[in-house]
Amino acid sequence: MAENSGKGILIVCDGLGDLREKGKTPLQAAKTPNMDRLAEHGACGLMHTIGRGIIPGSDTAHLQLFGYSTEKYYTGRGTFEALGVGIELEEGDVAFRCNFATVDEKMKILDRRAGRISTSFAKKLEQDFQNIEIDGAKVIFKASVEHRGALVLRGKGLSHKVGDTDPHSLTRLLVSKPLEGTPEAKKTAKILNEFTKLSHEKLNSNPLNEGRELPANILLSRGPGIFSKAPPMEEKFGIRSACVAGGALYKGVAKFVGMDILKVKGATGAKDTDLNSKADAVVSALNEYDFVFLHIKATDSFSHDGDFGGKKKFIEKIDSEVLPKLMETGANIMITGDHTTPCRIGDHSSHPTPFLMNGELVRHDDIKKFDEFSCANGSLGHLFGKDVMNMMVSLMGKAHIYGA
Ligand code: ZN
Ligand code: ZN
Repeated sequence: MAENSGKGILIVCDGLGDLREKGKTPLQAAKTPNMDRLAEHGACGLMHTIGRGIIPGSDTAHLQLFGYSTEKYYTGRGTFEALGVGIELEEGDVAFRCNFATVDEKMKILDRRAGRISTSFAKKLEQDFQNIEIDGAKVIFKASVEHRGALVLRGKGLSHKVGDTDPHSLTRLLVSKPLEGTPEAKKTAKILNEFTKLSHEKLNSNPLNEGRELPANILLSRGPGIFSKAPPMEEKFGIRSACVAGGALYKGVAKFVGMDILKVKGATGAKDTDLNSKADAVVSALNEYDFVFLHIKATDSFSHDGDFGGKKKFIEKIDSEVLPKLMETGANIMITGDHTTPCRIGDHSSHPTPFLMNGELVRHDDIKKFDEFSCANGSLGHLFGKDVMNMMVSLMGKAHIYGA
């Protein structure tokens, strides 16, 4: 057996799948000799990440891909954002995703991103939110990338069944309402509203905002989730795993399932990410870990922007900058998306996403190209996100017989 044949790499190109425009999808139009070689010596199929006809979010999609049922483990995106920005969560913590935004004196939102403030500016504003306690709950806020951040409420008797304060549009700030009649939901909504008011008072009077056309003068919250622990991958699959990603959400889901989050220079979770540096990080992680998850975000970002050409070029970049290094390791490789994001829709869709696996124990098929249409004829047929880790662990030779 080759070196690393007992190891695995899962590459998720976010929103990889697409629809045809002028006869081809971006993946079909792209020149991808390495993906095609992996397909030729591997097996292909189409993956429904959550279920047929279900449009996955990136959070739920990754949970399923890692083998964790969303019905059991998903309460809201906030939890994963908070873990992803490096907040250590405790059982019962309620977490939100946040935006620094601009409001006028009537609490009308003028810009949901406060003019897309820089990460370093947001980090300075973060200082306004130290040692805050409201109604006996500890409040933790951390800025992440640009205008984004995460908020955690910690204390007894909190609930994630509360409404957002972020109206998701340029209308008035929302008052968070309890979404159920429990004292926990009422208490949490009250704390969130008080915190939002406090954020406005603090930020509006912060000298750093002086003279800014769009002052970052409020924190908007959305996507609440409540944290409870899940069994780590090491326990579930018997493998030691690591994550190479730029975006906070992906690091957060990986952290939730017990992966070690590797610090990678130049991994931004954006179109300017350093793919070479990410590939190097995966290769060196194989010395220490059985399994490495590599997340690449920009494919999805190009789709959301409706940029077919940009997506095609970026896929070519993945093929030429990432794959040669990873193929050299001899590890089992899987490539897929977490969902389809058609450029012409500009949002996620329920179409299954192309999937390939390559490794010594793969029973390969006749497919010689990696794209949505070739994969439809692959020997793996239609698979589900929940199958992926079981298949990977099998390829790695670490699966056990079910029964006797
Ligand atoms: Zn996604
Ligand atoms: Zn997306």
